[in-house]
Amino acid sequence: MVMATAVVEQFAPVIFKNNHALNDFKKNPFLEHHHNGAVFAKHLIGDALRRRVEGIDHESCEPGDEDTFFVGDLGEVYRQHMRWKKNLPRVKPFYAVKCNPDPRVIQLLAGLGTGFDCASKSEIEQVLDMGVEPERIIYAQPCKTNSYVRYVASKGVKQMTFDNADELRKIAKLFPDAELYLRILTDDSSSLCRLSLKFGASLDTTDDLLALAKELGLNVVGVSFHVGSGASDPMAFLKAVQDADVVFKQAYAHGFDLKTLDVGGGFIGDTFEDMASVLRDALDEYVPPHVNIIAEPGRYYVSSAFTIACNIIARRTIQDPATGEASYMTYINDGLYGNFSSIMFDHQQPVAKVLRTGQRTLYNTPSAEAFPEGVDAGIEHSIWGPTCDGIDRITESIRFKQELDVGDWLYFEDMGAYTKCSATKFNGFSDAHDVIYVCSELGARALLGM
Ligand SMILES: *Cc1c(COP(=O)(O)O)cnc(C)c1O
Repeated sequence: MVMATAVVEQFAPVIFKNNHALNDFKKNPFLEHHHNGAVFAKHLIGDALRRRVEGIDHESCEPGDEDTFFVGDLGEVYRQHMRWKKNLPRVKPFYAVKCNPDPRVIQLLAGLGTGFDCASKSEIEQVLDMGVEPERIIYAQPCKTNSYVRYVASKGVKQMTFDNADELRKIAKLFPDAELYLRILTDDSSSLCRLSLKFGASLDTTDDLLALAKELGLNVVGVSFHVGSGASDPMAFLKAVQDADVVFKQAYAHGFDLKTLDVGGGFIGDTFEDMASVLRDALDEYVPPHVNIIAEPGRYYVSSAFTIACNIIARRTIQDPATGEASYMTYINDGLYGNFSSIMFDHQQPVAKVLRTGQRTLYNTPSAEAFPEGVDAGIEHSIWGPTCDGIDRITESIRFKQELDVGDWLYFEDMGAYTKCSATKFNGFSDAHDVIYVCSELGARALLGM
């Protein structure tokens, strides 16, 4: 399929090597004078979106040419890393691969020197294949598959978590040299995705678990926790650090020389500084300087780095019999079984914006925005996915200035976390979508060879 600027192999990631936006940017003294990563990022993302959608005519294109696609700004991942280092200098991040295993994201983070949190053989393999040393991987799944434990033992990936006695016996049998982190329970009631129903040892079991680990001759090296994905209460970190301190003391009493505290994930871009400040103070109070501190952020790194563009494939007009006013049911080519799986699994509410309508591309302009919720203006649309299931609805009601029609495009921002990775092929729709990479930070370009 032929785009305006690049030939794009279906499903293959695309990188704009000769970045026109970058050249425009360099030529434009106003922009250069106001160089600011976030402004430049919008410029690059807008340019990539525009080039792609302006090259597609839904009246004549091949099947799939109008498929959903992402624009990923690797510069945003880089900025998030710098922000992490500024706010949590003591804490070494191990990126949680499950959140978005995008190869370019992994490559960039590997170049930036982070570690990786993996939970399956293929995640571990993906990271090892990038040339990351086994010491930079933690197998942070307290309930592991036997054959995967044998696999990591053969690869020298030693760090792993546990939270129960059966798992300790499994590890004693399959990988007695493993470096174990005792994962403790946290109060995750204020988080979007609770994990404590499934994982974590409560404080009244930790002493017995440590005694058993000692008896089995195992090597406990640290304590880990996770305050829940999408945590909203920074105090959850304080409580968890206090609990970890109790377990550190229990472990010392059993003769273990614990070296590392793992503070897990749960960080969100919007509230990061507040979370980091509570965590930093708690760490300074409870964790002495000789103890290493690691974390497992996922969402924090990638959420804001990806924008998705979806095509309107069908529309149904609804006439209000009383007022004669028209509203629209708008069907797009991605939904809950696809990249919007985050609505089901991650309790997200992605907000549509108008990318292109009536031959005009509106990215990042006031006309792209919907009216705020509750404002009874403009034209009402509901937004639906492409499958035959009635549950496949993205937005119940949203109002735009424009009346949208088939062939128009919508975009959704902050679509980098728990989206593509949990998409399915239900109803025969593709789960493989192009990612057009841009990079709004020169430091990241250098690391990626872009
Ligand atoms: C999912 C997960 C993470 C990442 O969580 P985020 O909320 O995306 O930061 C980290 N650690 C473990 C063990 C997880 O299961």
